[in-house]
Amino acid sequence: MGNGNICVMKAILISTGDELTCGRTVDTNSAWLAGKLLAAGIQTVSHQTVGDDAAEIASSIRAATERAKIVLVSGGLGPTPDDLTREALADVLGAKLVLDEECLARLEEFFRRRGRQMVSSNKIQAMIPEGASPIDNEIGTAPGLMARFGESLVICMPGPPAEMHAMFESSVIDLLPASQSAVAVKVLRVFGLGESNLSATLRDILTDRQGNVIVSTTVSGGLISVTITATGDSASSASALADRMAVELTRRLGPVIIGTGDETPASVVAKLLVSRRETLSLAESCTGGMVGAMITSLSGASGYFLGSAVCYANTAKRDILGVPQEMLDDCGAVSEPVAREMARCARDRFGSDWAISLTGVAGPDGGTSDKPVGLVFIGLVGANTNKVFRHVFGSSREQVRLRAAMTALNHLRVALLEGDSITV
Ligand code: AMP
Ligand code: MG
Repeated sequence: MGNGNICVMKAILISTGDELTCGRTVDTNSAWLAGKLLAAGIQTVSHQTVGDDAAEIASSIRAATERAKIVLVSGGLGPTPDDLTREALADVLGAKLVLDEECLARLEEFFRRRGRQMVSSNKIQAMIPEGASPIDNEIGTAPGLMARFGESLVICMPGPPAEMHAMFESSVIDLLPASQSAVAVKVLRVFGLGESNLSATLRDILTDRQGNVIVSTTVSGGLISVTITATGDSASSASALADRMAVELTRRLGPVIIGTGDETPASVVAKLLVSRRETLSLAESCTGGMVGAMITSLSGASGYFLGSAVCYANTAKRDILGVPQEMLDDCGAVSEPVAREMARCARDRFGSDWAISLTGVAGPDGGTSDKPVGLVFIGLVGANTNKVFRHVFGSSREQVRLRAAMTALNHLRVALLEGDSITV
């Protein structure tokens, strides 16, 4: 997010723990916090991970306060010798740790309520650096810590995600300075265009990182997310700015935008089929049920999905679907006529409005010069539709299968939007 002409408040997040630096535990606290801060109009400029080393934690906090008004630390507030955030904060502040009687009373009460004996090592959790204030922990023993250092606010929270979330939501969010800006985030989902082609189409927009609207792209699971992050002096101006950019991106990218937020070809197809009260069946060979899995992973699938026949062997294509043996012999299983026939048979057997079929060479073996690895035929049959699409998908077996499954659903999406269907 660039600064533009709006002053965005900046935060740095520091996660502590040897389990994080050596990769045993993935740092989920920073991702969670960054999302919460963004919603509050605060930009996270850096995530840092530091081991259980008081000097390292202290120098990270010091350096962070030179670059951001808000520094949020998580982890290292427990009672064990590797919990060193308290000492690190005291070091930064040049202060001693002193016993906070109120914190001690709360700790004792915490243990009494649970009928447990408080061991003496727990007392350390009531030690607060002079000049810092404790933050109540409603679900655990370790209080959080808040201190001012230079121009910055430093807040330390416990590491266990549930405790950190509860403390942030119930106290920390109210301690943060009110942001003078608001941030709106909008995501467009793109399918059917490579990331490099997309970058070329949007180069001028993607390279402008200084304005009040930043656009970035990420690829995951075969889909590109184009994220618009807009900053304004109010929620409505930020949102209007994001909407304006969405209109411009839609103008440039057109039909490769399949939806917004976390939509996928499967979820868009689901929405369209439900609204048209139409049903779908599948005949899957090379994807082995992957398309069916994408559809049934969404709740409400029973409203439009009748079933998938996973017919991998030629005998299954013949005996279960009804593809003629001569067609399989003459054309081969990976062929346009077989794909067309698989879809027609599935529609017929399941009695659905639509049927999709997939037959291809997923690899890495089995390719020939006229039927290379990655060749997939996708059949699509509806009341007024009878099409076969030929694709060659690159890379690994899993990529071929994933791309084929998503592409098949995308062909149906396009057909449904074209309105090429029966009316019921
Ligand atoms: P601590 O507060 O440092 O004693 O952390 C207690 C536990 O919380 C650790 O053992 C981790 O399992 C978990 N934890 C700490 N920090 C994080 C983090 N940044 N992301 C996810 N889990 C964490
Ligand atoms: Mg720790």
